Amino acid sequence: MSDLLTLGFDAGLPPLPECHERAWARHAIGILNGDAHRSADTHLVKPDFAGLKGISVYFKDESTHPTGSLKHRLARSLFLYGICNGRIRQGTTLVEASSGSTAVSEAYFARLLGLRFIAVMPRSTSRQKVDEITRFGGESHFVDHAGAVYAAAAQIADETQGYYLDQFTYAERATDWRGNNNIADSIFRQMEDEESPVPEWVVMSAGTGGTAATLGRYIRYRNLGTRLCVVDVEGSAFYDAWRLNDREVTAPGSRIEGIGRPRVEPSFVPGVIDHMMVVPDAASIAAMHVLSERLYRRVGGSTGTNFFGLCCIASAMMREGRKGSLVSLICDSGERYSATYYNPDWLAEQKIDIAPWRQMIERLID
Ligand SMILES: *Cc1c(COP(=O)(O)O)cnc(C)c1O
Repeated sequence: MSDLLTLGFDAGLPPLPECHERAWARHAIGILNGDAHRSADTHLVKPDFAGLKGISVYFKDESTHPTGSLKHRLARSLFLYGICNGRIRQGTTLVEASSGSTAVSEAYFARLLGLRFIAVMPRSTSRQKVDEITRFGGESHFVDHAGAVYAAAAQIADETQGYYLDQFTYAERATDWRGNNNIADSIFRQMEDEESPVPEWVVMSAGTGGTAATLGRYIRYRNLGTRLCVVDVEGSAFYDAWRLNDREVTAPGSRIEGIGRPRVEPSFVPGVIDHMMVVPDAASIAAMHVLSERLYRRVGGSTGTNFFGLCCIASAMMREGRKGSLVSLICDSGERYSATYYNPDWLAEQKIDIAPWRQMIERLID
């Protein structure tokens, strides 16, 4: 201190550090911003169902992102989060635990930034997703059970001195839920000119739980009357966790890729959910088939879960003589599931009979 006083400001100060790390971070953020700027917003599609009297149905179509699912938004947010926290740097190896869709999107962004990417996935992950990861230059590491992905990813990150992106922990906090064109902001803006611009309900399934968290928080923040219904699936821990108010619940794991988890993920925020229900897998897949026929293109299994949940709410609204709009999501396209949910042999093998569920849905919507 005294030296500083006698020798003046220049004493003992080393030359100011050059900010090479920041130079790379600025370069990286520029690339991510460029990718966002080249993208248009996704469509809010409005299929017509004659049977749903007084109820308008909307689907936010997240299948049209460059990497084919709603995980394009999440991957971008997780990369921004990692870079802005100083954890992702030039040369950082990136590792993720995934059921596939997130890894596809992260592989895409890793390639844009010239970073090595390793995805840790259950062996049951669809072939198409694994091929897409490879196409974007990502590496795949397989484990036998969905519940084994977390520890394996953490270990690989440790061994490679890399960064574990950890979507299941960071999804809810990496997304800027108040605005900044997040999925909720985009949906409610696109609804503005509709007859019932404020939806009665938004229906969404949960994988990380991050999208449901963003929707629920945004609804509260904007002081809207909309309610949030989260649809869960067989083999998932989320529903019981919400019902019993217990985050320690575990489950065997889900057959519907992208949703339903063996543990209660840190990104699952039960406090913003108004209602939950469990959709049988056969009902999800039947709803997926019906919606695909009505939209003239194939949607994924979790979109079927969303649609079935939406049908349950629509049915209850009609019973009570309520009118209004309902919103849900097309999470990804059905192209990824031609060998499974769209394959009669796979359905038979899994002992899934969609016929009675299909009839039930068609009776409601026609
Ligand atoms: C991740 C995912 C979901 C669920 O979204 P979350 O925000 O993670 O809860 C639904 N469908 C598909 C296909 C997904 O990949």
